[in-house]
Amino acid sequence: MIYKRILLKLSGESLMGDKQFGIDHNRLAQYAKEIKEIVESGVEVAIVIGGGNIFRGIQAAEGGMDRVQGDYMGMLATVINSMALQSALEEADVYTRLLTAIKMEQIAEPFIRRRAVRHLEKGRVVIFGAGTGNPYFTTDTAASLRAIEIEADVILKGTRVDGIYDSDPEKNPDAIKYDKVSFSEVYEKGLNIMDMTAFTLCNENKLPIIVFDMDTPGNLKKVLAGQEKVGTLVE
Ligand code: UDP
Repeated sequence: MIYKRILLKLSGESLMGDKQFGIDHNRLAQYAKEIKEIVESGVEVAIVIGGGNIFRGIQAAEGGMDRVQGDYMGMLATVINSMALQSALEEADVYTRLLTAIKMEQIAEPFIRRRAVRHLEKGRVVIFGAGTGNPYFTTDTAASLRAIEIEADVILKGTRVDGIYDSDPEKNPDAIKYDKVSFSEVYEKGLNIMDMTAFTLCNENKLPIIVFDMDTPGNLKKVLAGQEKVGTLVE
């Protein structure tokens, strides 16, 4: 495995599987199996999950709700997803800890960087819930921030598409996939990978990003084994 410590970012929507809303248990079980494999190969794994399958602050604000209230609801949605993944991992006999950016001590530890690192060193999968704990941010930014804090070697962003293309592959059948792209090319070409706050944090801290299709079984392991054709590397 070419990376020792990784941060895996999953979108909330990826947990829906074939459903229109909520959480698909088969999808969770599949993710748990894949994560278990890489943990067993000695990789230290931290995870950030979005909440878009349940609630997004910006959409609630468009409907008239106070944005800050909506964003806190979105952050709570990420905790629900994190608990679901924690449960699936435990069913697969993987040791986990859930650390949240908003205190909820009956269900999770508060986020403390040194504690998170200690859990990773002990081989536990650490899930970071509740985003950054602040409204107006995204879970992509939470992923970048936490990855930098725990000194992860890379962020793996699991998506529905198998990498970064020169145009949207779901709209343009002739879109061309990049195997590798630099941070400056992403800015120059206006490629859409994550929001600018998240992306700039990675750029300024020289944290590579790999965008890959997490829904194809076996891909996570292939990415970590350094197979170049799987996903797109930004560095
Ligand atoms: N959110 C927030 N601050 C954060 C992270 C998330 O306010 O640091 C809220 C925001 O409303 C966002 C929602 O939580 O829309 C769900 O997160 P996100 O949209 O990033 O989830 P994803 O698109 O990855 O499923």
